[in-house]
Amino acid sequence: MIAEAVKHTTKGIDLSIPFYLENMVGGNLIGPLSGQFIDNVNPATGEVFCKIPDSDEKDIEAAVNAAKKAFPHWSVTPAEERFRILNTIASLIDENLEELAMAETIDNGKPLWLSKRVDIPRASANFRFFATGIMHFAAESHSMEDKAINYTLRQPIGIVGCISPWNLPLYLFTWKIAPALAAGNCVIAKPSEVTPVTAFLFSRICKAAGLPDGVLNIVHGRGDRAGEAIVSHPAVKAISFTGSTGAGARIASIAAPVFKKLSLELGGKNPNVIFADCDWEKMLKTTIQSSFANQGQICLCGSRILVEESIYEKFKTAFVEQVQKLKVGDPLEETSRQGAVVSKQHFDKVMRCIERAREEGGKILCGGNAVQLQGRCANGYFIEPTVIEGLGPSCETNLEEIFGPVVTLQSFRNEAEALELANACNYGLSATIWTQDISRANRVAAKLEAGIIWVNCWLLRDLRTPFGGMKNSGVGREGGWEALRFFTEAKNVCVQL
Ligand code: NAD
Repeated sequence: MIAEAVKHTTKGIDLSIPFYLENMVGGNLIGPLSGQFIDNVNPATGEVFCKIPDSDEKDIEAAVNAAKKAFPHWSVTPAEERFRILNTIASLIDENLEELAMAETIDNGKPLWLSKRVDIPRASANFRFFATGIMHFAAESHSMEDKAINYTLRQPIGIVGCISPWNLPLYLFTWKIAPALAAGNCVIAKPSEVTPVTAFLFSRICKAAGLPDGVLNIVHGRGDRAGEAIVSHPAVKAISFTGSTGAGARIASIAAPVFKKLSLELGGKNPNVIFADCDWEKMLKTTIQSSFANQGQICLCGSRILVEESIYEKFKTAFVEQVQKLKVGDPLEETSRQGAVVSKQHFDKVMRCIERAREEGGKILCGGNAVQLQGRCANGYFIEPTVIEGLGPSCETNLEEIFGPVVTLQSFRNEAEALELANACNYGLSATIWTQDISRANRVAAKLEAGIIWVNCWLLRDLRTPFGGMKNSGVGREGGWEALRFFTEAKNVCVQL
């Protein structure tokens, strides 16, 4: 059985995957109070390889009680001590990279080399970044000359909820938890029920690192059950959510009327704007990545490729030729460029979107079909990387997030038309611009309706920068001081002199 590939580590932490995953509540690893579990499937093989707690409001209540007990002490723990524990967690993630990467790939279907190079290193980077960040975090003071001095206290909020998606499981789970803990909060965290395994293994890492009981509680389960129980619990004062726009809207409808702090990182339908004067080789290589990395299941993937008319045909030919070379295969093989999509449900959704593109009159330039592998992966969920042309900005295919290995091509005549096409949908997460003209790059960047703009690059991330989207892509920003500010309450103290 594949799960057996992940053995006990030599570092003394048991990182084997048990058949029944457990919640971490008050420092204890325990099953769901209802005794109910959900199947967890390896998307590369279609096999159930473990079971996930189907937690409900009773488990959340227990987690909240544990967090309440832990908060008074954790909230006043010196920053140096929080640094030490969070930094230890980062080191333990690094030391156990092989086991965590294997678990991520088994659970998610992404190539093992990608888990090793991107997902797990970024999880430790998140913890290291916010561990050191809290040592430098400072608040403002405003002097009113000889009348008064104002200073701002940045105090932990209390108990906060962190809910994350399946596409970058441990990467995004830690991106939320690390700043929340660093700022002195106690956390109720729920990973996606589609990819819970590394979050479960992470609970063992936190215990080994000496994180006090109850400071972080990890509760597994479905969004509409465990997730909503976190969002609606009165003691949970802030929610940091990454996921779909639909779930974000539902969460906002529960949390907003009771004035919880909300950070919502939602879907994207990002434009990749390619001008004729681009650095051709670099653009082509990066556009393959920005289109299909992680089977196109990254919220930042450029799924709408907009190409200047004069190079459209040249681009189309070269791009399709490169896409056809991407090997779809067993995620455990080093040569596979594309692994499985995350689940049968998601496979069906992406295939329906390809069908809809056909019905809308789109021309499939390459891909468009499921891939039937042989042997171990014969029952896995694999899709050919797909390129579609001939669809305008107002068709569903160019308006709705597909979140799979599917991109569309559109051509534009000039800068104004490029902007019109780029801004033509309701999402506003990220955008990429390819041009050698620095003035145009700055002009277009200023007018694009997106929270994150890359010029002549993609997914180049500095963790200090504000991260998040506008329009239907979310509310608020993560990263750097933005995250530490989100996870603290500002209190102004005015002292008359
Ligand atoms: P999803 O919205 O279905 O689920 C995300 C998480 O929310 C899961 O843990 C789920 O259990 C939980 N959830 C679902 N409904 C809930 C509810 N009503 N209350 C509380 N929790 C609930 O999203 P997904 O399918 O797991 O992830 C894919 C989506 O995430 C895509 O839309 C993608 O663009 C988006 N995403 C955005 C970013 C970003 O930074 N903006 C990053 C990654 C993924």
